[in-house]
Amino acid sequence: MDCLFCKIVAGEIPSKKLYEDDQVLAFYDVDPQAPVHFLVIPKEHIACASEITPENSQIIAHIFEVIANLVSTLKLADGYRIVNNCGVQGGQSVPHLHFHVLGGRDMSWPPG
Ligand code: AMP
Repeated sequence: MDCLFCKIVAGEIPSKKLYEDDQVLAFYDVDPQAPVHFLVIPKEHIACASEITPENSQIIAHIFEVIANLVSTLKLADGYRIVNNCGVQGGQSVPHLHFHVLGGRDMSWPPG
């Protein structure tokens, strides 16, 4: 499949890995928008949040457990933001489900 993040999972494209297990991969964003900016993705190809189903939704709980552990390790005790962009109007540029985790600075609201 011609998917950038599937290629990262397969090791065909290098990434700066933070965490990996049999289900998920976390790696630093190549174009960071905050002092800490990493992505957590399922290894299974799920195109976007609209494709979460009763059959695959367990991975979402696991991703949020991984995020909780990583923000603790990275000492983002003052807070952080989790972002999922879905679809063209949602600003998604890579069609493989991913959660951005941003921290290390104050976040504004509403997002752009
Ligand atoms: P989105 O726009 O929500 O689909 O987010 C895609 C993110 O992937 C962007 O923040 C990009 O900077 C990031 N990105 C694109 N290519 C790579 C790569 N090779 N390694 C790490 N992050 C990437």
